[in-house]
Amino acid sequence: MSEELSMMRGGGDTLANLRKSFSIPKKVIYLNGNSLGPLQFRVKQRLKEVIDLEWGEDLITSWNKHGWMDLPDRVGEKIAPIIGASSGQVICCDSISINLFKLLASAMRLRPDRPKILSQVDNFPTDLYVAEGLEGMLGKSRCSLELRASKDLIDALDSEVAVLMLSHVNFKDGSIHDVSDLTRKAHENGTLVVWDLAHSAGVLSIALDDWDVDFAVGCGYKYLNGGPGAPSFLYVNRRLHDQLMQPLQGWMGHEKPFQFDKEFVPAAGIRQFVAGTPQILSLAALESALEIFKDLDIGFLQEKAALLSEYFLGLVVQESDLEEFQLISPTDPSKRGAQLSFSHPNAYAVSRAWIEEGVIADFRAPNILRVGFSPMVLSVEDIDLAVTKLIAVIQSRTFLKKKFQEKQKVT
Ligand SMILES: *Cc1c(COP(=O)(O)O)cnc(C)c1O
Repeated sequence: MSEELSMMRGGGDTLANLRKSFSIPKKVIYLNGNSLGPLQFRVKQRLKEVIDLEWGEDLITSWNKHGWMDLPDRVGEKIAPIIGASSGQVICCDSISINLFKLLASAMRLRPDRPKILSQVDNFPTDLYVAEGLEGMLGKSRCSLELRASKDLIDALDSEVAVLMLSHVNFKDGSIHDVSDLTRKAHENGTLVVWDLAHSAGVLSIALDDWDVDFAVGCGYKYLNGGPGAPSFLYVNRRLHDQLMQPLQGWMGHEKPFQFDKEFVPAAGIRQFVAGTPQILSLAALESALEIFKDLDIGFLQEKAALLSEYFLGLVVQESDLEEFQLISPTDPSKRGAQLSFSHPNAYAVSRAWIEEGVIADFRAPNILRVGFSPMVLSVEDIDLAVTKLIAVIQSRTFLKKKFQEKQKVT
């Protein structure tokens, strides 16, 4: 075991204290912070306060009195340092799907003579569905989605590609793109970039400004721990603000919503990307969840996640009972996000049986067991126990029970 790992035993690492902020049931080992970040005590408290005092007592006056109107901007400002953005370029509202639509449409408007959106064939489905939706709406001669394997993306950048739309970390196998390098290559080709940071924001070091990224979206409920259905964030580089028009022009993105003007005049800067009324309860939960990131070096999170995943992998490969688990993630930890994915012929049933043992990971079709290493809540001891329980599930064949075979609505 490496020196760093030995130090982490017994909670000797600098991040060990973060765990105390989270309310995780004693018997649960949570390997799914990549899909739904866990609950913090302060968020529980904050939601109670917003419901009892702000909504309950102050009612509609809270839009002014408690600054509800500015929550999308305020939460955006708190996310900005986590993704390497300076002030005024990040806003928090809606879902990734909706924000991608706004950004793709805005980007296509900036390249009227180029008809293509280039993306990766195994990108997250919603990202591709949204691009297809735009294609259907604008017609293929104005907007057509081209899909390529990861290794063929650079070769596919030609003079017709308006936008390169990719995910920083692939949701299935955890592989990472070099955002800086691909952004530079796209720009050399006159192509704009839209990055999806769903599986990297809050756990990998990101420098959107330094990398000169044009647009980005990301998730509030994964590593930012904002709670189920927490709103997404979007980033638009300042140099583009004056040229942009996003099509979901709603009153909350208007310069003066309460003038109820007939004409839409977009708010200055990033605010025009808010469409309708902000989701106050969800935003309040996310705002409070972000406090833990204050003064926290994301590099430490990334490093701890890499150490834990390496340790987990080491235990799995040395165990003959686990030989059916084939790693499909990159073996080099610097080339993957905070997750490991394994193929296994019974991956779904194994994930269910493991959950019954108190270890929560997830399954991704068709045959992938996905294990997330949320560095805020996990310890070396958790990893030991999780692997011990996985071995028990395999040795006892409990996963073959019928009740674990039937797919639930959400996997
Ligand atoms: C989780 C995730 C989403 C989620 O999209 P929503 O519209 O917010 O539900 C989108 N893209 C990627 C890559 C994801 O991992």
